[in-house]
Amino acid sequence: KTSSFTCTIPLNLRRPVIMTDSLNVAVIGAGTSGLLTARELLRQNHRVTVFEKSDRLGGTWVYEPRFEADDVLHLDPNRSIVHSSLYSSLRTNLPRPLMGFSEYSLEDKSYGDPRMFPGHEEVRKLLQDFANEFGITEVIRFNSEVVRVDYTDGQFVVECRTTEVGSAEEVFDAVVICNGHHTEPRVADDVPGIKEWPRKQVHSHTYRVPEPYRDQVVVVIGNGPSAHDISREIATVAKEVHLSSRSSNVNVSRMDGYKNMWQHSTINRVYDDGMVEFQDGHSIEADIFLHCTGYKFHFPFLRINDIVHVDDNCVGPLYKHVFPPQLAPRLAFVGLTYNQGLLLRTFELQSKWVALALSGKISLPSEDKMLADVHKHYREMEKNGIPKRDTHSLGFKFEYVDWLADQVGLRIDDRLKEICRNLFEQWGFHPNDFRDVFQL
Ligand code: FAD
Repeated sequence: KTSSFTCTIPLNLRRPVIMTDSLNVAVIGAGTSGLLTARELLRQNHRVTVFEKSDRLGGTWVYEPRFEADDVLHLDPNRSIVHSSLYSSLRTNLPRPLMGFSEYSLEDKSYGDPRMFPGHEEVRKLLQDFANEFGITEVIRFNSEVVRVDYTDGQFVVECRTTEVGSAEEVFDAVVICNGHHTEPRVADDVPGIKEWPRKQVHSHTYRVPEPYRDQVVVVIGNGPSAHDISREIATVAKEVHLSSRSSNVNVSRMDGYKNMWQHSTINRVYDDGMVEFQDGHSIEADIFLHCTGYKFHFPFLRINDIVHVDDNCVGPLYKHVFPPQLAPRLAFVGLTYNQGLLLRTFELQSKWVALALSGKISLPSEDKMLADVHKHYREMEKNGIPKRDTHSLGFKFEYVDWLADQVGLRIDDRLKEICRNLFEQWGFHPNDFRDVFQL
């Protein structure tokens, strides 16, 4: 096995070592972030309970054919929520060496799908093996949904609901939140007329297979990997697919290789007779709107909104996307960052940082300094014209992951960065078939 991290200076020579007792730590969620966090906490001899609301581990990577039936513009807050947003045909958008963790990636392991960008089931199996190998499965409480996290008298009260026992409260020294952020749909509700548009509107969260779109005229809003993958899949059965993105100012153009799919500019407005008018001057009559417009951070169980809250998809204040300064390191978030080639290595480093900080092996700056850093980050974003909703998007740069690695005394393998650069280039040149042309 090869490690994707290189050790730099031993931690205990770099920072003051203040050993603390083993803490009683709650981890919310048994997806990638929760499993990594549990492993690192166990390595530091903490007592770990992972709360998982479903009956399986793997989070996003557990494909769920069931989907929420709601009209996405008028979501019922009491609907039965389906966690995963995977569609049946989904392949990873990162190659095998980037899918996994140090010494544990899909480059080393294969479960029968030989492709460089495998189907989703390979990732779920990797996570299952990872959990078994590191003794994490034993500390997961399945079918246990955390419904409240409160902070009183220096401790966290975690209320959990199970089907057998109902609700029960427990007290913890620390809580790490790993509940994922690809479940609560974000929609393009600012398109003029869209709230009153009388026809069907769905979100990629509920997309599983193309069949329901057969013979339909579909407008797909979005410009991310899901928008492109799903549009192409739907085009195999739909009458017409019209892809529209805010960032596209081009005139309407037919997509290469398709007779029934067009790329448009942004939408001007929509009308209650089903008509959709694009800024490129074209109008069409559509049957369905499919919003591939991303997701919202959502922590319905958090009762400490004065300490950390979500504002326009910015979770804050958080020091380096992980620690709310007022409660650091006892409250932490792992897995909030996105738009990174080294996504999973970043989650791994975040989880190591949290575990080492909780053990007193790494000291964090003072609360004031952490807060000042957060505000500096916000000012820089504003100066560079980055909207608040993109606070946790890392824009495919390595500064943050390098910084994290440095905190925990590791260094990211240059080969992984090279693979990322190569991939970004291929995305640009071959947006439709980068998975098939990419070579290591
Ligand atoms: P999740 O995987 O969402 O896990 C969160 C867990 O928390 C779930 O098990 C959930 O049941 C549990 N939970 C939530 N709330 C509670 C609660 N209140 N109580 C108890 N348990 C709770 N990443 C890649 O690296 N490569 C890819 O190719 C890629 N493709 C993607 C494609 C799609 C369509 C999507 C949606 C995401 C993709 N991602 C990809 C990102 C992916 O989300 C991450 O790889 C990773 O799975 C995130 O892990 P997580 O643990 O942070 O969250």
